[in-house]
Amino acid sequence: MRLFFCMVTTLDPAVKTRDAHERLNEHYGVQEIRGRVDPMHELIGTILSHRTTFANERVAYQTMRERFPTWEAVRDAPLDQLIDAIKTANYPEIKAPYIQNVLTLLIAERGEANINFLWDLSTEEAMAWLNRLPGVGPKTSTLLLLFSFHKPVLPVDTHVHRVTQRLGLIGPKVSAEKAHTLLLSYLPQDAGVLYNFHKHFFWHGQRVCFWYNPNCAGCVLNDMCDFYQTGRTAVLSSTPIRKSK
Ligand code: SF4
Repeated sequence: MRLFFCMVTTLDPAVKTRDAHERLNEHYGVQEIRGRVDPMHELIGTILSHRTTFANERVAYQTMRERFPTWEAVRDAPLDQLIDAIKTANYPEIKAPYIQNVLTLLIAERGEANINFLWDLSTEEAMAWLNRLPGVGPKTSTLLLLFSFHKPVLPVDTHVHRVTQRLGLIGPKVSAEKAHTLLLSYLPQDAGVLYNFHKHFFWHGQRVCFWYNPNCAGCVLNDMCDFYQTGRTAVLSSTPIRKSK
């Protein structure tokens, strides 16, 4: 029978967050910020990416741009044809209207499908502008602002949410939306630091801290992980128990 040390950390969560960040920096190596060259690609690609693999998102984006080469053509496309063009991305019937509504609003307001003006806005102004767009929530706006505009924000996707919650950096009931601001308050307001935090926790969730059966024995964070140290039985909002049908 495996013995658990029950070393649930009582460290200040901000200190523990920075310790975990440092350890993953060493494990994965510090990365330069790399976003897609065109911010419009990042915006529309991020809408397409929800609950979709990167490969399927890329096929959807490329097919859409081949069939509708300008953003005005995407905006004006018959809805069923746009849905068909992006069908490799999950939920195309929801994403297609979002994309058209974003383009309609953007072109009406700015005269063109171009969001480079976000460089000139403060982080708060840019977040507020993006969060008005249909289908754009904190995850999309933080990914776009960090990757394309190097603003000091922290995207929290399912991987980042799950790993930080299992470690005990955020509480067991904290939502991904709340985690954006909570984790951000523990870290330096530096785009490079936040980019590495996001990338490393994302990779750790993909490669080690799986939804089912995380590889705790091979995890470089296991000595500081509340979930592991307490026998992997904690009920967490990031990994709700799936009900059988
Ligand atoms: S010890 Fe296990 S649960 Fe904790 S972060 Fe590592 S893989 Fe995830």
